[in-house]
Amino acid sequence: MILISKEIIAQNKKEKYKFKVSNSRFGKGCFAIEPIKKGETICFFEGEETSWNESERRYLDGRDRVDDPLQLSESKFLYLFEPYIYFNHSCNPKSGLRGGRELIAIRDIIAGEEITYDYSSVTWDDRWTKIQGAWTMKCECRERNCRKAIGDFLTIPKSQRVKYLQLGIVPNFIIEKLVTEKKNHLSYSTLLKE
Ligand SMILES: [Zn+2]
Repeated sequence: MILISKEIIAQNKKEKYKFKVSNSRFGKGCFAIEPIKKGETICFFEGEETSWNESERRYLDGRDRVDDPLQLSESKFLYLFEPYIYFNHSCNPKSGLRGGRELIAIRDIIAGEEITYDYSSVTWDDRWTKIQGAWTMKCECRERNCRKAIGDFLTIPKSQRVKYLQLGIVPNFIIEKLVTEKKNHLSYSTLLKE
């Protein structure tokens, strides 16, 4: 079943694309076709919503890679449609996801620059880690602060996590987990103070 919000489609049509898919050193990537100001909406991600169980089935069947779907919550994933699937990861990203689906610029982007976001900023799946082991993927973004391996939200250095929280590009389900994570004695307010 494909569930896409009508408002999201309307929003994308109204905005038109501010980017185009082109070749990057990672295969395909999304590149700005006009200057995009910090804080500006780039697009709303569209895709097929699936449950955690369905997502696991697809992976075990070999139909999808573990890093294919975008995590929306503890139990929901989004199989991104084109062109949203082509946004690459960077450890020093130019954009981030507000509210889980709205891609916003977190710095000024000039025309021709590749638009990236930090996959770890939207990923934290304890259930998967328990059953299949920690999700990880090799990173070759070549940024000075490259973490070499992309993992879940807690693999992001603390100072960068705080920056993402302040920029409003951490989904609610991760904020809730941070607050309730007793193990690390984390709380949203202390994170912002550090
Ligand atoms: Zn990297």
